[in-house]
Amino acid sequence: MRIDIISVLPEMFTGFLNESIIGRAQREGYVEIHIHNLRDYTKDKHKRVDDYPFGGGSGMIMQIQPIADCISHLQSTLLSSKGESYDAVIYTSPDGNQFNQGMANRMSQLRNIIILCGHYKGIDHRIREKLITEEVSIGDYVLSGGELAAAVMTDAIVRVIPGVLGDSQAALDDCFMDNLLAPPIYTRPAHYDGFGDVPEILLCGDPKKIREWEIQKALERTLALRPDLLEEQ
Ligand code: SAH
Repeated sequence: MRIDIISVLPEMFTGFLNESIIGRAQREGYVEIHIHNLRDYTKDKHKRVDDYPFGGGSGMIMQIQPIADCISHLQSTLLSSKGESYDAVIYTSPDGNQFNQGMANRMSQLRNIIILCGHYKGIDHRIREKLITEEVSIGDYVLSGGELAAAVMTDAIVRVIPGVLGDSQAALDDCFMDNLLAPPIYTRPAHYDGFGDVPEILLCGDPKKIREWEIQKALERTLALRPDLLEEQ
């Protein structure tokens, strides 16, 4: 999979991209992530990518030219180098469809995606109408820029690409994978003074019984904490 992220703050991705599962997934060739500095595409001699809003009001708006040129450059490069096109051009936006596990799973099956990070007051609406195929929000709150949203999405997408997590079962057991929260988890020691014991069943050695218990606990937790997930099915 290839993920191209367009941003005015490319440095924000440096640490995140090299660490943990995302770092390993790139080194092992499961995903290629490219960060593009939008300012490299502006024709403005002062490297500006934003301008005042028509109609007045406060804040600045990202202009069409650098974004359209950047996306078009990425599209033609991908076409000429690999003969492929982008499956999705995503804009991070608080009014987009809310990101969830199902979306992460679906996107992890795409070959090439672009994620455009907004900044300031957002982007000229004509870009959204002409070039964006999907708009995604990571929650009902407003961030200063789309970088953290793009990072959240990239992390959730990459970890479910088959093979990325060593033990493939690890992702299947996670919250939301089957509209259930994860069961409670424990590690050694089996007894810790003041904290009590691990549930007996986890020590019984019978994988079938343990699995049944886990599903039961997952159901109980989902019913208690997120009954809406069960209604979605
Ligand atoms: N004026 C806009 C908010 C701009 S915030 C509005 O009211 O909708 C600046 C940028 O941060 C946005 O362009 C978007 O790319 C990003 N952003 C802010 N909140 C976000 C969220 N909840 N999910 C995804 N991206 C978000």
